[in-house]
Amino acid sequence: NFSLKQLQEIDGAHHLHPFTDHKDLRAAGTRIITRADGPFIYDSEGNELLDGMAGLWCVNVGYGRHELAEAAYAQMKELPYYNSFFRCSTPTPVLLSRKLAEIAPAGVKQVFYGSSGSESNDTALRLVRHYWALEGKPEKTIIVSRRSAYHGSTVAGASLGGMAAMHSQLGAPVPGIVHAMAPYAFELSLPGESEHDFGVRAARSVEDAILEAGPQNVAAFIGEPVMGAGGVKIPPASYWPEIQRICRKYDVLLMLDEVITGYGRTGAWFAAQSMGIEPDTITTAKALTSGYQPLSALLVGDRIASTVIEKGGEFYHGYTYSGHPVACAVALANLEIIEKEGLIERVRDDTGPYFRKSLMERLAGHGIVGEVRTIGLMGAIEIVKDKETRERFPGDGAAAVVVRDHAIANGMMLRATGDTMILSPPLIWTRSTIDMAADRIAKALDLAEADLRK
Ligand code: PLP
Repeated sequence: NFSLKQLQEIDGAHHLHPFTDHKDLRAAGTRIITRADGPFIYDSEGNELLDGMAGLWCVNVGYGRHELAEAAYAQMKELPYYNSFFRCSTPTPVLLSRKLAEIAPAGVKQVFYGSSGSESNDTALRLVRHYWALEGKPEKTIIVSRRSAYHGSTVAGASLGGMAAMHSQLGAPVPGIVHAMAPYAFELSLPGESEHDFGVRAARSVEDAILEAGPQNVAAFIGEPVMGAGGVKIPPASYWPEIQRICRKYDVLLMLDEVITGYGRTGAWFAAQSMGIEPDTITTAKALTSGYQPLSALLVGDRIASTVIEKGGEFYHGYTYSGHPVACAVALANLEIIEKEGLIERVRDDTGPYFRKSLMERLAGHGIVGEVRTIGLMGAIEIVKDKETRERFPGDGAAAVVVRDHAIANGMMLRATGDTMILSPPLIWTRSTIDMAADRIAKALDLAEADLRK
């Protein structure tokens, strides 16, 4: 048994963390999470935290689900691994593919597996370019994405994403990716502009990007139905229908990244269904297994699938762990829990609306809150210095870190991204868990305000 101090020393000496400033990590000391149950995580010192982020937007069925551990154990004993290359498969990816075809939007029936959302977006990028080459239009290669988008950390994922720091640091972007405006009304709408008009204008910036590149050169548009890591940016209702119209007009494929929104978060299996979007590809990962195993599934619509199957020959692409039997067994058990416990209906009809009401009533009026927005069980709280003018505190996101640290100290795990606090809890949250979260966040906001206005 290692003490916290020993683990922190070893961690500082050997472990490079994702998205971490290591000097900062060493100064603060790594927080070691050792166990979890239901909606709570516990650190090595026994502190209990309500997990407002479901890990990283993934533990939709909550922690401590023995059914998932048992599904993994049973599969590991029977057959821990075999690949799905060279005309082989194991049973679980076969059965999971049928299940995904059943719950996916109409016209989406084929599945390609990987281990992460990033890999899945790489696959999607290669697949749409492959599709256009097979259709005799190899010049259609350009992908239109958006600023503030997050599509993963591989070279292609970082390139598809719209975060400037990721482009300048990591050898990205790969050629042929352009970025339009984010549908972020809180900062980008014009004085007096209606929500509807803002949504249309944000979508038209995608059209502008297509026209600038030349529609004959554009393969696809990629977008998260609701931008997640970019700050839970929920587009106005006018946005997606306009994007859909533009994609159809210029024969540009529509790639949806549902790595966060997939498997119930917005109150439907997929946000495509709750928002009425008809995509050609859907990237999913995270909650497919509720994070209990690494697994991603790229759902491929009939248009692309039929061309690739009929004309494509071999698609030179795949991962050792594509269709991993243990991960797929866990995914099947996870989807069964979501279905049996009615978690999606609960988000749609009960906890989603209650989450909105509670956050609006308890937090929206707070002195440093500029806006609260939610969809399903996903939410954002904008931190501002001045509620009226929406002026931010100085320090580029430093104020949100103050809020986050007070929240954690008060038993509430939530995340700060830029000047926005974000929430994406497990779908097992009840009304009383929501009340508990709202109390703890309200307290953190009070303490943060006192610090920030000193
Ligand atoms: N796409 C979106 C929308 C995401 O939020 C993420 C991860 O947070 C990814 C892709 C990348 O997934 P992964 O971290 O599994 O590679």
